[in-house]
Amino acid sequence: MPHPSIKPGPAARRRELSLKDYVDGVLAGDRVTLGRAITLIESTLPAHEELAQQLLLQLLPHTGQSLRVGITGVPGAGKSTFIEAMGSRLTKGGKKVAVLAIDPSSTVTGGSILGDKTRMAELSADTNAFIRPSPSAGTLGGVTRKTRETLLACEAAGFDVVVIETVGTGQSETAVDEMVDCFLVLMVAGTGDELQGIKRGVLELADIVAVNKADGDNMERAALAKSQLETGLHYMRPKVPSWLPKVVSCSARDGTGLDELWCLVEKHRQALVNAGDFATRRQQQQVRWMWSMVNGRLQSALREHPAVVERVVSLESAVAGGKVTAAHAAEQLLLAFGVKAR
Ligand code: GDP
Repeated sequence: MPHPSIKPGPAARRRELSLKDYVDGVLAGDRVTLGRAITLIESTLPAHEELAQQLLLQLLPHTGQSLRVGITGVPGAGKSTFIEAMGSRLTKGGKKVAVLAIDPSSTVTGGSILGDKTRMAELSADTNAFIRPSPSAGTLGGVTRKTRETLLACEAAGFDVVVIETVGTGQSETAVDEMVDCFLVLMVAGTGDELQGIKRGVLELADIVAVNKADGDNMERAALAKSQLETGLHYMRPKVPSWLPKVVSCSARDGTGLDELWCLVEKHRQALVNAGDFATRRQQQQVRWMWSMVNGRLQSALREHPAVVERVVSLESAVAGGKVTAAHAAEQLLLAFGVKAR
């Protein structure tokens, strides 16, 4: 029987880990410990939440080094094919790639559109890649927070690129944009309406738009979609002055256009770094994240406050029935919560 300290079997792996075990394991880039650290981060047990916060505090000095890339697109746009192809190229080039997901459908129904490991078979088996499905419990806000913390754990574990994938339905894109450096929107050519399914608001977040499936019979339609998108984006206000959104075409299936696309992702980073926007963007994301957590907690505290609970139903119906103004009712609820009148 092998000595447990030399070759730990599954049983030894499952023993309780101390804070130090977690920190050392994650910093050493051990994928098993990273997986367990993420399970700890995702747990809603108070003792786990406490330990997870201590862990994150120790990991924090080792974070921030990765390039954080968001990817969205409607189901069928080719996201998993794309991430698999791009991820494998990057790992072959010596990079470590983590893929995380935020899937709004999983928070509502428990079922998910994204995040199924089997979607990216090659990348799942790649020792330089780490794929983690979307947390499937909690509110979108809760899931977003867990994903942010998971991103930090992946960075501390030495991943060079962290991809955060979501579905292009408009619910979770802003959340993803708030945690990445570069936001990529994947479109499909050849379905007639070139803005199919993707909400205009989602397109406004794009740093790069990729027209996928530019292959076979689709080549012409892809070229047309590309020029239509270029015109469309031209009229949108850029997110930062240092970068105007770019449109490219590619085929995730055949691998064409992927190198050019990655060059563009790096160009985007360089342009933002040169203009000083890269660090500023991350700092602003941190501060907004802090406030969104404060707002979230305040709102639940207010909604759970007994004096508010007592009045909320009658005030809501009075507002709906036009008997009191929304401003008056808001004032009443805040007073009940203990916020002084203006
Ligand atoms: P997702 O739902 O966005 O993750 O999309 P998938 O990656 O699962 O792809 C949906 C379908 O489109 C699959 O049948 C893929 O094989 C196909 N597909 C993905 N990328 C390409 C591409 O570049 N060209 C072509 N022709 N088909 C593709």
